[in-house]
Amino acid sequence: MATLTKYVNIEFKEGRIEPARPVRGTHDRFGTENVKYNHILKIATSIAELYCYNHVSTPILESAQVFERTLGNDSDIVGKELYSFIDKGDDKLTLRPEGTAGVVRALISNNLLYDLPQKFYYYGPMFRRERPQKGRLRQFEQFGVELFGHEHPTSDIEVIDMAWIFLNKIGLSGSIELEINSLADNESRTKYRGVVREYLLKHEHHLSEDSVKRILTNPLRVLDSKNPKDALVIQNCPTITEYYNSTSAKRFDVVCQGLQNLNIPYKVNPRLVRGLDYYDNTVFEFKCMNPDFGTAQGTVLAGGRYDSLVQIMGGKEKVPGIGWAAGIDRLTMILDDNILPSRKRPIAIVIIPDYEKTTSSENTSTEVDNIISSKNNKLYYYGLNLSKSLRDKNISTLFYHSPHKSSLKTILSNIVKTDASHVIFVGENEIAKGEVTIKDLDNKIQEGCKIENIMQHIVN
Ligand code: ATP
Ligand code: MG
Repeated sequence: MATLTKYVNIEFKEGRIEPARPVRGTHDRFGTENVKYNHILKIATSIAELYCYNHVSTPILESAQVFERTLGNDSDIVGKELYSFIDKGDDKLTLRPEGTAGVVRALISNNLLYDLPQKFYYYGPMFRRERPQKGRLRQFEQFGVELFGHEHPTSDIEVIDMAWIFLNKIGLSGSIELEINSLADNESRTKYRGVVREYLLKHEHHLSEDSVKRILTNPLRVLDSKNPKDALVIQNCPTITEYYNSTSAKRFDVVCQGLQNLNIPYKVNPRLVRGLDYYDNTVFEFKCMNPDFGTAQGTVLAGGRYDSLVQIMGGKEKVPGIGWAAGIDRLTMILDDNILPSRKRPIAIVIIPDYEKTTSSENTSTEVDNIISSKNNKLYYYGLNLSKSLRDKNISTLFYHSPHKSSLKTILSNIVKTDASHVIFVGENEIAKGEVTIKDLDNKIQEGCKIENIMQHIVN
């Protein structure tokens, strides 16, 4: 039984069921956090559409090889963080840890590679079994874009520009910094890889265990290590810049000049490498100067060029590609509440039930009587119809259910919490005269109003 209770996350203590808890590294999003989340997503999608990118949705569940094949066996994600399992049909499946590999898989599966270029944006949850910290979750949300079929540096400039505009527009202007680097082409990178391997071997004894393991398999990955033990060795490692061949150097120069031309501030960080195997040429990260985050969680958006990814995944030809992904949870944490767009204020509708006539002094079940009294039901139906007609006019309307259960004071304090601008009281005598009572919740003035004049009264 102990195993069963662990699986369902419910514990029995002294015969009582303990409340279920969320899985470690996951959280529920509601209230202001979700308002911010929706704000970010709305701006992200509208910008992507403005740049003529199309929405793509791929499954959260993919075959494990979609990620194992592409992200690199010795990447942190594949090595330690994948949520993989064998299902009942003996298939090895993985909850996606990132978006790009799935989008490339979709491109191949749907024959979209015969119709290039393709520009996509996506969003949704990603899963990595990391050590949970502030801004580092096991289930987190990303918004990302991918552009396939263009290798000209203007495509690098376009996607970086889109990221810059997005982060500024959600309210982060002045607090973000763009770092950019080039991992160059294969020729230059191969030369550099040899140099890094030699350098790391010399300083092996100062490196973390994980990094030592990677010296021979993937030395560039060591440069992306977040382990403080590796910091000094990484800091003094030769940079890739000196090993660019002329094509790679020229290409990177065009990208940098293009950013300057669009007035996008950036800093070249020759030590910036990305954690996944599939990147080449341009790589970039947007960091946010926020004292709440440790430096390891400061990156809010990251991406790069991945010209060999399609072939790694079994595409017949080499298809150039570039993209980025933003961590929406981190952005949500950084954004101030006061940058949120104000929501339309609702109108509340409260029925004033006719208590006297439905409550007989001997009858103890007054509540039930009030609920089922056909007299009051007419009022409720009237109120529901009124709500519907306001909503038809695009006015956000809150119908207050069960007013018979609360005092008017409680009802009003509940309504004030919703930021309503007015309350419309619907009572039997007034309806008979074709009227309602409207209370302005800002100036507290309450007055009678002919039903046909409600709109003039509440729209000001
Ligand atoms: P980090 O260096 O912070 O681990 P990463 O390089 O692994 O990030 P990417 O795979 O490039 O991250 O993902 C893009 C963005 O997604 C990151 O910049 C970050 O904002 C967000 N992100 C990545 N992992 C997490 C996580 N575990 N929890 C919350 N957000 C995350
Ligand atoms: Mg990571």
